[in-house]
Amino acid sequence: MKAMKILLAAVLGASCAGGICAQEKPSVKTVKAVRFGKLWDAKGKLWTNAIVIVEGDRIRNVTTDASAIPVGADVLDLSKYTGLPGLIDVHTHMTIYTDETPGESMLKQLTSNPPAVEVFLARKGALRTLEAGVTTVRDLGADQYMDIAMRDLINRGEMIGPRMFVCGYGLYITNTPYKPGLNPPAGGIADGVAEVLKAVRQQIAAGADLIKMYASTGTDDDVTGFQTFNYEEIKAAVDAAHKFEKKIAIHSYGPDGARDAVRAGTDSLEHATDMDDATIQEMVKRGTFYVPTIDHNRYYIENGDKIGYAPGYKEKLQSFIPRNLETARKAFKAGVKFAMGSDAIYTMFGQNTRELGWFVKAGMTPEQALRTATTNAAELLGKEKELGAVAPGYFGDLVAVEGDPLADIDVAIYKVKWVMKGGAVVADKTKDRGH
Ligand SMILES: [Zn+2]
Repeated sequence: MKAMKILLAAVLGASCAGGICAQEKPSVKTVKAVRFGKLWDAKGKLWTNAIVIVEGDRIRNVTTDASAIPVGADVLDLSKYTGLPGLIDVHTHMTIYTDETPGESMLKQLTSNPPAVEVFLARKGALRTLEAGVTTVRDLGADQYMDIAMRDLINRGEMIGPRMFVCGYGLYITNTPYKPGLNPPAGGIADGVAEVLKAVRQQIAAGADLIKMYASTGTDDDVTGFQTFNYEEIKAAVDAAHKFEKKIAIHSYGPDGARDAVRAGTDSLEHATDMDDATIQEMVKRGTFYVPTIDHNRYYIENGDKIGYAPGYKEKLQSFIPRNLETARKAFKAGVKFAMGSDAIYTMFGQNTRELGWFVKAGMTPEQALRTATTNAAELLGKEKELGAVAPGYFGDLVAVEGDPLADIDVAIYKVKWVMKGGAVVADKTKDRGH
């Protein structure tokens, strides 16, 4: 066991070179005082010269009074920077990580690696996600319960990555043409109410934190949005999830699956282009979260050749993005609640927060955009008293950015200099040359 710890420390030490500095979980008594020039706490206050006191993995206090710093506390001076809560990405696929292995398309890599290899490789995407300031993710679909394994390894401190809330297998109908050339998933296939109930219960039994259901076609370079599950099946999944106090996220590329998902009481709706006004109004009424995932199609356009999409993908994806953005604009104007989800997959990890730029294009102020990745996302997770804000009792998840993210959202996206997760510094670029 001791040898293992030393080995782990060596591995973590090596990862410092890339600007990532992971350290082991702090002991319960470790106290840190982090100074920020400005602090946006997501509780409605913009602090000047804030001091955040973190004890163990939680925030004990936020103050401007230096005499409140406990004797012996480790003082971290980030007064050149603006502090933010650790960000939350509510739509990732952490275990669908690939790299740019020469000669092997990313689509092909997904079927050529055994699950254990996939989980091991995924630590790289996990580090890049942290480096972007994302300390928590809601992971929406994995095969072989790799997501559950990864969540647990991270929670045990054996793997460095964002805190994960996972769903196991997403639910599909039979014959959903979800990824040409890939094997169908071994789990999550369900037709009819009885099988849907069984599939939901299987995920919960396996240890899933929430349920994911694919209520339409559409993924990768396939931008069709034909409804798959019918209303009765969707309603059965929603009710079964809620009975176990689990939330449910429903995927629909098009308006029909979206309409039935909202009517059935889904907690969040993913993608959902071309939604009609009545569905949008229903979301406002019910408080359904919208996770439009606009930016992942930008990533697909830039990387489609390496992923291995068939020719013609660029045109299809390029025509989808403006419709996605327009739907987001309409929904935001109508008062729908948003949460930031990147749909990060393949090599997209580290670009998780680029979605915030699209939200500003859709009409949000930078502060409203930041809420989608903090307080709103935490509410969608049901963790609004522990995540998404800098306040006493919350997890010690902090991000330092260089500049004013409330004036320019790009500061939050591209100028992350330092990240703390659960009281441990997990990324530090403050001493990089030329910063
Ligand atoms: Zn997804």
